[in-house]
This record gives sequence, structure tokens and C-alpha cells, in this order.
Amino acid sequence: MKIGRGITETNATVWFAREGENFFLYEPAPATIGDPITIKRILAPSLPTKIVALGLNYHDHAAELGLEIPREPLLFLKPPSSVIGPYDEIIYPAQSSQVDYEAELAVVVGKRCSKVRPVQAQDYILGYTCFNDVTARDLQYKDWQWTRAKSFDTFAPFGPWIETAIEDPHKLAISLSVNGVIKQSSNTSNLIFNIYDLISYISNIMTLEKGDVIATGTPAGIGPLQRGDTVRVTIGGIGVLENRVG
Ligand code: MG
Repeated sequence: MKIGRGITETNATVWFAREGENFFLYEPAPATIGDPITIKRILAPSLPTKIVALGLNYHDHAAELGLEIPREPLLFLKPPSSVIGPYDEIIYPAQSSQVDYEAELAVVVGKRCSKVRPVQAQDYILGYTCFNDVTARDLQYKDWQWTRAKSFDTFAPFGPWIETAIEDPHKLAISLSVNGVIKQSSNTSNLIFNIYDLISYISNIMTLEKGDVIATGTPAGIGPLQRGDTVRVTIGGIGVLENRVG
């Protein structure tokens, strides 16, 4: 099932379920689908207390950079204030002259959890969505910490909705295009650390709250965005996340 958040024609912010091309009112607890509705604007499908993101987590990306496979996941955080939804504008900050796209599969946490074992991880996953880990690459190389490079307002577009019915998140096609030209094309089978091990690893450091987002890293082919570009992240079985750079 695809669930998300949106604004209706009467300007109400609601949860929706999407079936085919149609939207229905959705009640998260106890997960009931209601009447058909018209959504005029889709919002980011979750309000995370934090976004935990992974550096270098694809074999093809490590190979293109000539880097060794990391022995442990490399984590960083993006703030909730960086979240935008589908079709919202990514704002190119004045402080940077190289803003890159990074297509990523994101996991949305379904229940508060701590110290989860990998075999239990699926119990705490609500579903999966598309994520663009927008990065000011010049500032990332300049700074010791990645906080500035990863945290500008609008640098965490995700959506368009959460797919709750993915049986195996480790065999999804993932791609990214800029102005219709494919720049990244890979598969989550190339992930270095799998989703369940990541949930365990992260939740042994910090409590994960319902709605928190884990951005699982980007495959090969990262590159720059320019003002005016349209960038699309597509993940098989989930959908397309589109944003324009302003
Ligand atoms: Mg990334």
C-alpha cells in the first residue's frame, strides 16, 4: 500500500492512501482507508525527528571513487528543517558553488525502537520512499564535519509516498535523472550494509522514533545540479520524487 500526506482542495492536511491513480482518505491508526479525495499538493510523507544518513554504502559508488569498502557504516544526520516534499523547490544556497544530487532509498521507521536485532528490524519499518540527499559538495570537502554541507533548508526532499508492501528492499532498481537525462542507475542489491543490519546498528546508538527516516546511501554517478534543473529519483515499486532547483 502507498500512504502519504497531502493537502486537499479544501486546504486540509491529511493522510492519503493511493491506489492506482486515485487517492483516498487514510487513517494511520488503525490503518483504515476512507473516501476518495482530491489531493492538490503532495507533502513529504513523514515528519521525522531526525534523518540518519549513510556515507559510502554502495559497492558501485565505492568503486567509482576508488575507495575501500568501509568496515562499519558511516553515519551523519540531516536536520528535520531540511525536509521538503515532492515538487517543492531545492534552493541553491549562496554559500556553495557545487550542489550535488544523490538518489537514495529511504526507510521510514514505523515504531519507536532501541537496540533492535537485525532479525527484528522488519517489525519497526513502516515502509520505503525515494530520497535525494542534496549535498553542497564543495563545503563537504572544505569542512571536517559534514553538517553544513548536508543541512541547508530544502536539502532533504523525500516522497512521494511510503510504500508499505515491499517484501525485499534489497532488489529495487534505483535511478536519477536531471532534465530527463539518466545520471544514476543501480540496484539496492549493491548496498554494502543491508537495511536490517543498518536498523540494528543505528538503534544501538540512538532511539529511533516513529516517522524517523534513514537515507541508505547513494549509488555511482553523483554529480552537480544547476539552478533551473529538474531532478527525479525513481525507485522500482515506489514511484518518482521530482524537484526543481531554484
Ligand atoms: Mg548520501
